[in-house]
Amino acid sequence: MKVTHAEFMISATTEKQYPTDRLPEIALAGRSNVGKSSFINTLVSRKSLARTSSKPGKTQTLNYYRINGKFYFVDVPGYGYAKVSKKEREKWAMMMETYFQKREQLRAVLLVTDFRHAPTKDDVQMYEYLKFYEFPVIVIATKMDKVPKGKRTSYIKRTKEVLKFVDTDYMVPFSAYTGEGKQEAWRLIKKFI
Ligand code: GDP
Repeated sequence: MKVTHAEFMISATTEKQYPTDRLPEIALAGRSNVGKSSFINTLVSRKSLARTSSKPGKTQTLNYYRINGKFYFVDVPGYGYAKVSKKEREKWAMMMETYFQKREQLRAVLLVTDFRHAPTKDDVQMYEYLKFYEFPVIVIATKMDKVPKGKRTSYIKRTKEVLKFVDTDYMVPFSAYTGEGKQEAWRLIKKFI
């Protein structure tokens, strides 16, 4: 997709702050520091639309980015960061519940995982959660530039096995550094908007 307009709209913490224009939404979930911001920036060909930060777990808001006035990327706060308090974790869970249970215009979820490693317990839990609510999931296995070519096929297999991946979902090996997977990610996203 040729992105002509990409704008940050709002950091929402409560339902009242969600945009009201009824555009379709594509959410991004993933472990803190996995590379969600870099993924968004790569897809929209901008260096820093989404914040890439060295402080994992800091962003506890739903960040809305409007793309070409046509749909939203909704960056949901990263999970699995050990240093957040129990209270913070509960706040996170409540926010996620509200969003995933109620948001009718949410069409699909991009679950960003680290291609170098098997999915973590938190990744598996997130995938199960998304499947419970019957959202289509596109797994973005990022940082593929760090995985030698000869290992990629077996790593994809491993990721699918650990997640108990459902065959109607999609998986895209991706790299924000080389841009590999970008076209395929757009092709799939377009199916849902
Ligand atoms: P977020 O917290 O999930 O938004 O993660 P960021 O996008 O801020 O990325 C976290 C770190 O991973 C940064 O140091 C990025 O430079 C690095 N990173 C992100 N994507 C890639 C990738 O495709 N390949 C490599 N090698 N590093 C990446």
